[in-house]
Amino acid sequence: METVMIKRTQTCPKCGKSHSVMVPFSEYWAWECGAPMEQALKSLTYCELKQIAAKVCPDCQKEILGYQ
Ligand SMILES: [Zn+2]
Repeated sequence: METVMIKRTQTCPKCGKSHSVMVPFSEYWAWECGAPMEQALKSLTYCELKQIAAKVCPDCQKEILGYQ
């Protein structure tokens, strides 16, 4: 079965840039149905989870957390 991806776009509160994360529909749906984020969106990286949870873009996350 082909995986349908949901594109979730948001605006970074720090730099105002718009950035998006691709989420498999089945995972997105599990999350919408109330599953805890880290459990539902299991194919996403830590950075991508933060992009959705805090709306902060990857560049600003690096800046804030100080990692490369
Ligand atoms: Zn940003």
